[in-house]
Amino acid sequence: MGQQLNKAYRHFTQIALSVIFPPVCLGCGVQVSQNGVVCADCWPQLSLISRPFCPIMGTPLPYDAGNGDEGEAFFSAEALHDPPPFDAARSVALHHGLAQNLVTRLKYGQHTELAIWMADWMFRAAVDFFDKVPLIIPVPLHRFRFWQRGYNQSAELARALAIRAKNKNCFFPEGLRRKKWTRQQVGLSAKERKANMRAAFEVPAQAYSQIRDQSIVLVDDVFTTGATVRAAALTLREAGAASIYVVTFSRALL
Ligand SMILES: [Zn+2]
Repeated sequence: MGQQLNKAYRHFTQIALSVIFPPVCLGCGVQVSQNGVVCADCWPQLSLISRPFCPIMGTPLPYDAGNGDEGEAFFSAEALHDPPPFDAARSVALHHGLAQNLVTRLKYGQHTELAIWMADWMFRAAVDFFDKVPLIIPVPLHRFRFWQRGYNQSAELARALAIRAKNKNCFFPEGLRRKKWTRQQVGLSAKERKANMRAAFEVPAQAYSQIRDQSIVLVDDVFTTGATVRAAALTLREAGAASIYVVTFSRALL
């Protein structure tokens, strides 16, 4: 009975809220039928990543070569020539158009409310990663940048993902710390980014026992060269994490 009342109350609240705050398109703000969706005009500006993609890097493959007669998977050149320190990565969309717009608004525009809807997409793109009830760790900001911005966009996404995965207790931002002040990555070459990121992260001493032998989902807003998530994943790996899966909202193809 209590549960039914609770349900009715939630339903009523949703209706009341939708009258006061009608759902709007995440891209352009026109009114739409439900929250967290984009309108028909904005939809073509979102390049969702769908199969076939590399099972490790999560990047689109030019053709569906996998799952042939022997059921072997095909991998991207990057996965074969520069194997990452994480097990697999998934992203929702390519980093241009609407996806880039959403990431920018979340990061620099104080639009932290977008995190709920972006995390919803991220969860669906990487649903398998959540089977093992992983710890969900955001890529941390240096404390000076956190102080400048007031929030960490990746932590907003990670927290929303933990709620979406129905496991709020798995949100573990204390699991990783940025110890080195890194220059802005924008405008650096892949090689420079790698050097810039070396030794940028550490697992705080008090977090070691929780990281060891755990499955981790590492969350960031955008996967650009991969230097950041590779450095963060390597740090977690060295601390004894059993498996590391990376989820980002968007993915730049270089
Ligand atoms: Zn729109």
